[in-house]
Amino acid sequence: MKYSLKRIGDEVFVTLRGDVTEDSEGTLNELKAKIEVARVYIDGEKVDLINSVGVRVLTAFANALRKSKISFCYSVASVALVEAFNLFIGLCNPDEVEKIAVPIHCSYCDRDGYQIYPASEVLGWSDAGITVACPHCSKGAGVTTDLDSYTYFLKG
Ligand SMILES: [Zn+2]
Repeated sequence: MKYSLKRIGDEVFVTLRGDVTEDSEGTLNELKAKIEVARVYIDGEKVDLINSVGVRVLTAFANALRKSKISFCYSVASVALVEAFNLFIGLCNPDEVEKIAVPIHCSYCDRDGYQIYPASEVLGWSDAGITVACPHCSKGAGVTTDLDSYTYFLKG
């Protein structure tokens, strides 16, 4: 996993990229040491994979921020992150995420992908008949996840 960090005033914008695994512990500790502000936005759109040890180190990172009274939120959470949030309660609280990637499949161009929506908006969707704009051809693509389970962690 790699990260980049940009500080603007009292806020820090972090971008995570790649796989969160046992190898990410040192990286996240280094990142935590660089955060000395009250508010952190984490862009997790490019987190491709998070394994079970990755969950543990990312939870430790989140808890360290909470303990230091640093408020953080995922400005975007990838599909891999959202799936982990649903399996491991405490990894991300409902108020710690702004937008989530929703997995989709487009039958017009036969491609899988995702679209990003505000978490609160997705929470209001029902499974029946949700179509979103395909990022490739702009036609209607179908959501390929069970929305009720996919938004489970948002329900507190
Ligand atoms: Zn398409």
